[in-house]
Amino acid sequence: MRVIQDVAEMQSLALERRGRGTSIALVPTMGALHEGHLSLVRLAHEHGDEVDVSLFVNPTQFGPDEDLARYPRALERDMELCREEGVTTLFCPGAEQVYAADHSTHISETRLSLGLCGEHRPGHFDGVVTVVAKLFNIMLPSVAVFGQKDFQQVRVIQRMVRDLNMPVRIVMAPIVREADGLAMSSRNRYLSGAEREQALSISKALRDAEDAVAKGASDAEVLRTSVEAGISDAGLKVQYVACVDADSLEPVENLDRAALLAVAAFVGNTRLIDNVVLRLERPGC
Ligand code: AMP
Repeated sequence: MRVIQDVAEMQSLALERRGRGTSIALVPTMGALHEGHLSLVRLAHEHGDEVDVSLFVNPTQFGPDEDLARYPRALERDMELCREEGVTTLFCPGAEQVYAADHSTHISETRLSLGLCGEHRPGHFDGVVTVVAKLFNIMLPSVAVFGQKDFQQVRVIQRMVRDLNMPVRIVMAPIVREADGLAMSSRNRYLSGAEREQALSISKALRDAEDAVAKGASDAEVLRTSVEAGISDAGLKVQYVACVDADSLEPVENLDRAALLAVAAFVGNTRLIDNVVLRLERPGC
């Protein structure tokens, strides 16, 4: 496995591989890798001749009051895990490599980024789409794999790729959970034992909603409020619980189409997100 920190070196390798006709599947990450990230790498192997991972804690997607400075970093272990998963190139540039001191260009997606996390994290998705576009330009993948854990992020990136005609196919991978249901996240390592117990209320409330839908519940507001109650009863500070159309991310009233039930909540100082996609099973469908 090659470990590259230099942008120019990465880009010339990418051009050389493209010249050879080698297709690349890219897994962009912020590091502190866990099984969720590794599941993306395994899926990426099905989509490209070679798999690259980028590891970059992107400063432009963090707000001024967010956890950029304390975001977990574990480069040695990440390298070991990538090596074990058959990654060809690990690209881990420094922020000064990625952003010129006087950079003055960015991309904005102006519709799908507005609600859900975007509403509470102003500028976050500008940072995300800009860095993903930069990674695509530097690494020239033909496929990029992202996790459903960040469902809105996937939709926003799909929209960017479509609107800007980027020759990259976006693949969405399912959420990987701990045995007890907690969605894996690099931020889970911030949680104390008691907070981790409380955090379980998120996946439990979403599972209960899925069960209710399996039994025929279809009113989005009823589902939304019961998830909100389940999470706040456990002592979490709910940022939002939303039930939206899985394509447009616009709020829905009922489940006549696939809907995303998405949560963001604080356990102590740690912000966690999770979601499920709900579909009403109709007999004969
Ligand atoms: P991050 O390092 O948090 O930016 O995540 C990098 C990629 O891994 C993103 O596409 C995430 O959606 C994905 N990811 C993070 N956690 C999980 C998980 N539990 N299951 C599946 N994918 C995940």
